[in-house]
Amino acid sequence: MFESTIDFIKSTFKTNEFLPLQEPRFIGNEKKYLNECIDSTFVSSVGKFVDKFEKEIAAYTGLKYAIATVNGTSALHISLLLADVQQDDEVITQALTFIATCNAISYCNAKPIFIDVDKDTMGLSPKILKEFLQENTRLEDGKCINKTTGKTIKACVPMHTFGHACRIDEIKDICDEYKIVLVEDAAESLGTTYKGKHTGAFGKLGAISFNGNKIVTSGGGGCIITDDEALAKKAKHMTTTAKIPHKWEFEHDMIAYNYRMPNLNAALLVAQLENLDKYLANKRELATIYKKFFDEQKITFMIEPKESKSNYWLHAVILKDREQRNAFLEATNEKGMMTRPIWVLMNKLEMFKGAQCSNLDNSLWLEDRVVNIPSTVRL
Ligand SMILES: *Cc1c(COP(=O)(O)O)cnc(C)c1O
Repeated sequence: MFESTIDFIKSTFKTNEFLPLQEPRFIGNEKKYLNECIDSTFVSSVGKFVDKFEKEIAAYTGLKYAIATVNGTSALHISLLLADVQQDDEVITQALTFIATCNAISYCNAKPIFIDVDKDTMGLSPKILKEFLQENTRLEDGKCINKTTGKTIKACVPMHTFGHACRIDEIKDICDEYKIVLVEDAAESLGTTYKGKHTGAFGKLGAISFNGNKIVTSGGGGCIITDDEALAKKAKHMTTTAKIPHKWEFEHDMIAYNYRMPNLNAALLVAQLENLDKYLANKRELATIYKKFFDEQKITFMIEPKESKSNYWLHAVILKDREQRNAFLEATNEKGMMTRPIWVLMNKLEMFKGAQCSNLDNSLWLEDRVVNIPSTVRL
């Protein structure tokens, strides 16, 4: 089964070897900058590559500030703390996301509420969000109070799944109306714009990941993006042990974090960013090739939703049902072609079993059917 699909994908990548889902490519100045970094001895958390990277990512996403962090999860964690998410607060996110989103919420000792996604974006559904808030909350002293738990819903974290933008402008309007801080999990969507604006730029804060499997990588790394100067300063402070600047004294004014991105990682990332446009074009071209092929196979290929110019980070197909999904996973992985199902819904995990949820019909439907297929930039 699926032999023609496996043959086609292997021929597209011109290989008979094991085919991974998403491999990094180091085809530019990676080694040069890493050597420069080592020669400078500034391999750790201070150095010109960190500064350069922060400037470049801010310019690229069209925001005023970017703060480099050790990974995407820590970028989310700090963003939520800056949104004033505290113990016993609640944070809305989608049931269909990667665990990191919910881990960051949990690090703040807050509880997630899971809302359904739209089928065409696989991201948070503004329609279902609005219905949920109308039915389940009331505004009190400028706060959104959950009528069921009596707790405050402080923030909302939509995620741009596989680099496809969700309806983030509608979500922003709803959050504004309900006095909920919008924090975007843009971990997967560097290079993705929605109505011409970069994802992560709609919320008060956005978090991006540069993990090894993302579209560009620093080995491990992340960043916070924002237009708010005060939040940007606080983000830098909180990710760097809250040290008060002084020539020699070690004074710190709060319990904070060592979430700095080392200069060594930033050096790799600066080189990677030089090729981002090339990667984006390459992945988009692969999407066109896949679309044509899967149309002929009568298998749905996930294309960019309306208004989203997607980075096509991970390509995905939507199979007929869970049985066909399992057969596809079995056949492809058996033949050395890596494919992976979309995540198990967050509300099904042991840690989040008690969480409040909206109707999750779309999430359940997608969970049964979506599989990622090889997506690496072809050389
Ligand atoms: C990759 C990812 C993150 C952050 O991951 P790190 O590995 O900590 O950089 C967060 N959310 C989503 C949806 C992701 O895919």
